Amino acid sequence: MTTAPPTHALPPTVLGYPRIGPDREIKKALEAHWGGGDVAALIEAISSHRRRTLDHLVGLGLEEDSAVPADGAVIDQVLDASVLLGLVPRRFRDAGFAAVAPDAPEGLTLISALARGTSEVEPLELTKWFDTNYHYYVPEIEADVAFAPQATALADRFRAFRALAEQSERTVGAAPLPRPTLLGPVSFLVLAKSVGAAAETSQAARFDRLEELVGAYAALLGALHEAGAAWIQLEEPVLSSDGWDIPREQVIAGISSAYEQLGRLTERPALFVPVSYGTAGDDALAALGGTAVEAVGIDLERGALPSAEALRPLAGTTLAAGVVGGLNVWRTDVSRAAALLDTLGERHQGPLTVSSSTSLQHVPHDAARETQLDPQVAGWLAFADQKVGEVLALAGHLTGGADALEGLRADDAARRRLREQHPQVHVESVRSRLTAVEPQDRRRAEAEHRRAAQETGLGLPPLPTTTIGSFPQTGEIRRIRAAHRRGSLDQQGYEEAIREQIADCVRRQEDLGLDVLVHGEAERNDMVQYFAENLEGFITTAHGWVQSYGSRCLRPPILFGDVHRPAPITVDWIRYAASLTKKPVKGMLTGPVTILAWSFVRDDQPLADTADQIALALRDEVQDLQAAGVKIIQVDEPALRELLPLQVAERPDYLRWSVESFRLSTSGANAATQLHTHLCYSEFETVIDAIDALDADVTTLEASRSGFEVVSALSEHGFSRGIGPGVWDIHSPRVPGVDELIDRLRLAAEVLGTQRVWSNPDCGLKTRGWEETEASLRHLVNATAVVRAEL
Ligand code: GLN
Ligand code: ZN
Repeated sequence: MTTAPPTHALPPTVLGYPRIGPDREIKKALEAHWGGGDVAALIEAISSHRRRTLDHLVGLGLEEDSAVPADGAVIDQVLDASVLLGLVPRRFRDAGFAAVAPDAPEGLTLISALARGTSEVEPLELTKWFDTNYHYYVPEIEADVAFAPQATALADRFRAFRALAEQSERTVGAAPLPRPTLLGPVSFLVLAKSVGAAAETSQAARFDRLEELVGAYAALLGALHEAGAAWIQLEEPVLSSDGWDIPREQVIAGISSAYEQLGRLTERPALFVPVSYGTAGDDALAALGGTAVEAVGIDLERGALPSAEALRPLAGTTLAAGVVGGLNVWRTDVSRAAALLDTLGERHQGPLTVSSSTSLQHVPHDAARETQLDPQVAGWLAFADQKVGEVLALAGHLTGGADALEGLRADDAARRRLREQHPQVHVESVRSRLTAVEPQDRRRAEAEHRRAAQETGLGLPPLPTTTIGSFPQTGEIRRIRAAHRRGSLDQQGYEEAIREQIADCVRRQEDLGLDVLVHGEAERNDMVQYFAENLEGFITTAHGWVQSYGSRCLRPPILFGDVHRPAPITVDWIRYAASLTKKPVKGMLTGPVTILAWSFVRDDQPLADTADQIALALRDEVQDLQAAGVKIIQVDEPALRELLPLQVAERPDYLRWSVESFRLSTSGANAATQLHTHLCYSEFETVIDAIDALDADVTTLEASRSGFEVVSALSEHGFSRGIGPGVWDIHSPRVPGVDELIDRLRLAAEVLGTQRVWSNPDCGLKTRGWEETEASLRHLVNATAVVRAEL
C-alpha cells in the first residue's frame, strides 16, 4: 500500500478554539450583515478574527507546524462541511442558490440562507450537537442532489490562513503551518438526514452515498495537499456513541472503507482522526488502525482508557490523548492526566501526543479576564487559553520526564483541599433537606382529578392560545438591564422600567386576543443565567461567552457549590403582570435539568444530587407562585433531550433521575394549579416516555422544524394530557401564513384530539422583532378561530 508519509509528527494541539471572538466580534459582524450591512464588513471581520486567533494561539505556545487548528467555519462546522461539499438542497437550488465557495461573498449569502431561511425557503433543521448545548445545521441528503466539492475554495482558505499566519508579529522565520479541520465523511452522513422520496423508504439510505462522498473528500484533500497543508483533521465524533439510526456495524464498516480509500491517496495531507464526546470503542480503533490514517485522537475526559489490546491495531500510528477536557471549565488534575499518559505510553506502540478531548468551542476564551470572581473559585477555572497551557504542560511531561509537572501537581493538591473546605461548596442545610426527601414529594394528585379541578378553575376555550414565555428582547429592554447592571439605573428605576415593559407586553397580548398570557421575561437576560444569578451556589462570568447556535451566544453560569434559594425570584413580576389582566398569566421557571445542562457544573458529586438541590429551590418558587394566586406555572425543560447520554446503555439511569428531579420541583403544586412544561430541539422519539413521566398537565414542544413528526409519535404513545406542538418555527423571521397554521392545527387536533391540543409557537419569541411577532400571533389567533369553529 502506498501512503503519503507525514512530513512531520503531529505536535501537541487542541482540536478547535472558540469561533465567536473574545468580544463576540463574529456574532456582531454576522448580525450587522443580517441587519442589512455590507458583506465586505463581514468578510473583513472574519479575516481579522482568523489573524488574531492564529496569532494568539501561537503566542500561547502552539508554535509547531500543524499545532494550530484552522477552523474555517463561520457559523457551524457541519454547515461549513455542507457548503464545502457543495450540498445545496433542492429547495434552495430552486430558489436560485448554487454551490459556491464558502468564504466568498456569495458563499456567506448561501450560509446565511441555509441557516436562517429566506422569505421563500425554510432553513436547514437545527439540532443539538452530541450532549452539548451547541446546535448544528442538519445536512440534507437528496437522491437527485450530488456533492460538488469546493476544492479550490478549501485550498484558497488554507492559503489565506497561511498568509495571515505569515503576518503574525510573533513569527520568527517561517510561520507555522495551520492545520485545516473538517468534519469527517462518516460523521457527516450520520449527522445528516435523508430528505425527499428516499427518506420515506428509509432514513438509512443516506449512508449508501458514502462512497460518492468519499470521492468528494478525496478532491478536497488533493487540493489541500497542493496548497501545502501537512495535516488535516477529519473529525469522526459519531464513533463515540451507538444511538444513531445507522447501525454501529455499518458505521464501523463505513470508517474502514472511507479511510482506506482516503489513506490510499498519494497526494494528500497526513490524516488526523479525533474521536470526541466519549469512548471511541475498540471496534472504531481497530477499524482506523486497519487504514493508513497517521494519527487518531481519543477523548479521555468522557471516554475510557483503551486497553493495550484495543490499541494494538494502532501500532505505529500517532495517538493524540485528549486528557484536557473541552467540555468543562475546571483546571485539569495534572497528576491524574499524567498518570493516564504514562499508562498510554506503556500500552501504545507508537508516538504519543497530547490534545484537548474536544474542540474548545464549548468553553469561553480566557479565565484570566474574570477579575470580579471570588479569587479562590477563579483559581479553580480553566477556559480555552488555560487549557492550551495545560496541553503544553502535559506534553512537557511526555518529553521532560518526572519533574516537568512538579509545580502543577502541588497546585492541584492545594486546590483540591480548598475546594473541599469552601463554605459554599458544602452547605449543611441543603444536604439535610435533600436527605429528607420522600418518594411522595415527587408525586402529584391523579391526572384526571387535576384536569377536572383545572377545568373549573380556568375555564379555557378549546385549543387555548398561548406563547412559550419570552417576547422580543428589544434594544430598549437590553438598555434597561445594562444600565441597571452598570449602576446608572437604581433598583427602583429599574423595577419601574421593567414593569412598563411587562405592562406593554400584557397589553399587546390582550389586543391580540391570546387566552393564556405571560409576562414576557423582560427581566431575564437568559433563562438559565437569570436563575443562576438569583440562587446561591453559582458564579456568573463577565466575558464567558460560548456559541449556542448561529450567532446566538450564552454565558453559561458556573455551578460550583450547594444550591439554594435565598429569596423568591419571580413572584413579584408575575403578580404584577397578573394584576393587569383578567386572563390567566403563566408563571415561568426554568427546570433543574436545563439549569444543569446550560451551566458548567461541579464535578465533585453526582449530577443527580446537584439536580435535586436545584429542584428543591424551584419547588419553593412554585409554592410561592401558587400562594400568590398564580394558577398556571410553566417549568421549562428544553434541555431534557440535550443531556441524554450518547451511549444507549446509560440512558435509563439519566432519564430516571432527570424526570424525578423535575417532579421534585413541580410536585408541590395543588391539583388546581396547571403545570406546564416546554421542550425543544426536536428528536423527541427517544424521550417520549420520559416526557410523559414528567407528568405535566400541558406540554408545549418544538415540532415545526422537524416536520411536525412529534405529533404522530405522541399519538402512538397514547399521551393523555395537554399538548401544544408548536405550529411555526420561531427561529427564523418568517411570518407563517394563516392557512399553513390552520393545516397544522387541524392535523394536531385530528391526531391528538381536540380536547387536549393547545395552539402556540414552538419556542420563546425573545429573538424576534415585534413586527413579525405580532403578525405571526395574529395569524395564530385567526387560524385557531377557524379550527375552533369546525369543532
Ligand atoms: N420560556 C422560555 C422562552 O420563552 C423558553 C425558552 C426555550 O425553550 N429555550 O424564552
Ligand atoms: Zn423552546
